Amino acid sequence: MKNVIVLFGKPGVGKGTRLDEFLEGRESQFDSVAASGLLKKEIADGTELGRQAQSYMDAGGLVPDELIITMVINRLEASTKPVVFLDGFPRTVPQAKAMLEAGIVPTMVVEFLLDDAIILERLRNRVVCSSCNTSYNLVGAKRPKADGICDKCGGVLARRKDDSEEVALNRFDVYFKQTYPCLNVFASSNIPVYTIDNSNSENAQKQFEELMSTL
Ligand code: ADP
Repeated sequence: MKNVIVLFGKPGVGKGTRLDEFLEGRESQFDSVAASGLLKKEIADGTELGRQAQSYMDAGGLVPDELIITMVINRLEASTKPVVFLDGFPRTVPQAKAMLEAGIVPTMVVEFLLDDAIILERLRNRVVCSSCNTSYNLVGAKRPKADGICDKCGGVLARRKDDSEEVALNRFDVYFKQTYPCLNVFASSNIPVYTIDNSNSENAQKQFEELMSTL
């Protein structure tokens, strides 16, 4: 069984950014599965699943478990790399249980922490590439080199619909009610949970690298 590392934390906490930095130049050894990426592909491909998922995603609510569990588990089982990062899954207790029942027991969970106010500020300044999904911060160190254009692929940068303050607050609420309790499922299966404070990106990246070097 490969190592599955669950990246956990509120929406907008910066899990994806930490992971992208870590993966740079290491893509051959590591695989990463983002639940939202799989959903976005279904939408782009115009599938029935994508059509059903779209309205939940736009409103910042969760896509129903029955749409997402099989899709993510199939993708994990198909991975051929020794280590797979799982971003944005599980997000409900039934998802966590389904994963364990399928024999996918994470080696560890990395929980990223950040105050709501800082997340809201970052979301306000976040733009995302509409082609390759890379995110940028308009006021931070991760500014795009040319206005409105992705450094990596030249795609168009835009704000995400679900980054508005109203939708973000709904996503926090959903996180505490539905996602946070997954930690109890991990604890009762003796899966170690490590926490990283993501308020200082450089320190957080260092801690993440150190943790991964223990694999
Ligand atoms: P990103 O990875 O692009 O930051 P999110 O992980 O916040 O995006 O996911 C965007 C949306 O996709 C969520 O608000 C939700 O509607 C849907 N989604 C992603 N992962 C799940 C999941 N595990 N269960 C249900 N819905 C999900």
